Amino acid sequence: MNNYMPKSFDEAVIEETHQYLTQSIKWVALLSMFLLTAIFFAVMLQKTHIITVQQLITLELPVLCASLFGLAGVIYKQPQKRSLGLVCCYILVLEAAWIIFIIGQFYLTTSYEVLSEYNALNSAETIVDILVFTFAISLFPKRRWLLISILPLMMIGLIIRLIEIPETPIFAVTKFICLLVIIISGQNVLIEWFKKAILSDIEKQQLLQQFKQMALLDGLTNLSNRRHFDDVMLKEVKAAERDSTPLSLILIDVDFFKRLNDSEGHQVGDECLKIIGELLHSIASRPRDLACRYGGEEFAIILPDTALEGAVYIADKIKLALRQVKIPHPDSDVSPYITVSQGVCQWQPGLEVGDVTRGADLLLYQAKSSGRDGYCSGKAKAHDAEQV
Ligand code: GH3
Ligand code: MG
Ligand code: MG
Repeated sequence: MNNYMPKSFDEAVIEETHQYLTQSIKWVALLSMFLLTAIFFAVMLQKTHIITVQQLITLELPVLCASLFGLAGVIYKQPQKRSLGLVCCYILVLEAAWIIFIIGQFYLTTSYEVLSEYNALNSAETIVDILVFTFAISLFPKRRWLLISILPLMMIGLIIRLIEIPETPIFAVTKFICLLVIIISGQNVLIEWFKKAILSDIEKQQLLQQFKQMALLDGLTNLSNRRHFDDVMLKEVKAAERDSTPLSLILIDVDFFKRLNDSEGHQVGDECLKIIGELLHSIASRPRDLACRYGGEEFAIILPDTALEGAVYIADKIKLALRQVKIPHPDSDVSPYITVSQGVCQWQPGLEVGDVTRGADLLLYQAKSSGRDGYCSGKAKAHDAEQV
């Protein structure tokens, strides 16, 4: 059966956070480059050339380098290989580059005596606000990182406002506090949605897993059902053909089962099938062995990489195990306990699934006609040749 285990909630949150944060590098880097271009054109298009092209390029260079460095990291490293520590370092480097830019631009703009201070403050604050929201959105799954990245920027915004308009400190502080409250409460809302989305994804995965199991398992015995048997048998025949390895199949049918049902009732019959199911499951113990419920009171065991002698050994084991379990069967002609008849068949190169199941079925029929509580074994033959 499929051994896939759905992730736990905590594991999924860690994984999704990691994925979001590593992806956000790309986003922040691209956005930074877009912002640099916008600032470049905005400055160049101004009639009064406050900052020269060289000055602007020098100021923009650290941000550009940090952005390109981040993009290169995203392109060249697999997402799972990017550590969160590196992501954090990268964000801090980019932020430092932006702080240098903001301070440099502010200094150059204010040093122009002709210009109104309003311009210097306005452009610095606009950039700070855009960056604060960019970092807040990109780092929202981790509050500590978010605060580490936005607080220095917000402090710079506050200081610039206090320097430029010292007459209205209350307004500057109020803006600082309001922005902080909006971002922290917004982060709470986003994180709730983030966790809800992860939870519903896990629930969906679990449901899917349950449906898959239901589709492949038999409800009574918990063994694989006929559908799964057909799938596995097809794969194993292909594997045996490809790897030139042996493959055997045992078909098992409970003897006089109808009589057990009639005399003891269906519930006893069901219990008996469950016990046989557990027994077969424990006997088909190699990782690729597969015990299935083939039909009503018929079972099958697929034995990959097993030649006829090995399969006969398993058939003997089943017979002996049933003797030890001693499930009472008062109406059986062969024993006071439940017995089974078995057809043990080895697949041969070039044969198809149908050839093997038909072969095992014929051998099972032979075992029934030769007195039950035993097995017949042989090698499968092609459909048109006479079987076994
Ligand atoms: P034989 O030795 O020739 O195999 O005889 P038998 O009675 O075992 O074979 P037969 O095919 O005549 O009867 C099989 C019975 O298995 C008939 C059916 O009612 C019963 N059966 C099939 N599936 C289930 C099940 O899930 N639960 C129970 N209790 N009985 C089942
Ligand atoms: Mg039967
Ligand atoms: Mg039977």
